[in-house]
Amino acid sequence: MPAETRSITDTVVALTGASAGIGNATARLLVEEGAKVVVGARRSERLEQLEQELGAENVAAVTMDVRSPEDNRRLVATAIERFGRLDSIVPNAGIGLYGGITDHDDEHVAEMMETNYAGTVWSVRAAVPHLRDAGGGDVVIVSSVAGLRGGADEAVYAGTKFAQIGLAGSLDRELREHGIRVTAICPAGVHTEFAMGTGRTEGSPELETYLRPEDVAHAVVTVLRQPRRVRTTLWAMWSMGQGS
Ligand code: NDP
Repeated sequence: MPAETRSITDTVVALTGASAGIGNATARLLVEEGAKVVVGARRSERLEQLEQELGAENVAAVTMDVRSPEDNRRLVATAIERFGRLDSIVPNAGIGLYGGITDHDDEHVAEMMETNYAGTVWSVRAAVPHLRDAGGGDVVIVSSVAGLRGGADEAVYAGTKFAQIGLAGSLDRELREHGIRVTAICPAGVHTEFAMGTGRTEGSPELETYLRPEDVAHAVVTVLRQPRRVRTTLWAMWSMGQGS
């Protein structure tokens, strides 16, 4: 029997961190699948380019900072205004800063904690009332394998990613009765702009062994396409070139 999947045509997905990397690839794949996407990030010119490329009938760009609860509410409000509903939220925006626990200044460490963890909480809080009112939906958080086990030179980053896993597990228990599925996707290294100059070096051969942003986009879409009787709570993924 062929595997049963669900169409996501005309569903409305709000997605943070869509100006680059995983978020950008995910927005593109979602539109290919017929979904409408509301894309958020700080670099407005990149988002506008995406909207132009994929069509304003499919994409709404929102210049926003995930560290702001108000900006996250604006992201969600745009979904309702432009497309009349919200079916899914994908908190994906994040930054990486590798190094020992005392290596970076307070400001950058705080920025990472506020973006990766608080930003996720603000996105979820903005979306859940709409998903609940609609009788269900999806929350797909892009966490990391760093959130499943710690690693040298990434203590604070891993902490933010563990926090997302704790959030996702708790939300799964809280929101299942409302028909809301909650997933944490945990990729190993992905070749994007992530941590370039703050732990990774453009052109380094190791990057060629990494996952590609499209691989993670495919995981997000696969989760959304699962029949509604199925929920994927955790998805860890590595490339064949990466040891676990
Ligand atoms: P990129 O650096 O390529 O993209 C990060 C995205 O996040 C950009 O669109 C950026 O947009 C956005 N962003 C960062 N800070 C903010 C902010 N304050 N407000 C709004 N948007 C923000 O990284 P990836 O695509 O690789 O990373 C996406 C997610 O995947 C992150 O959560 C990361 O932790 C996770 N991840 C990445 C892995 C990797 O190896 N690349 C591995 C495992 C997980 P802008 O700057 O325009 O605001």
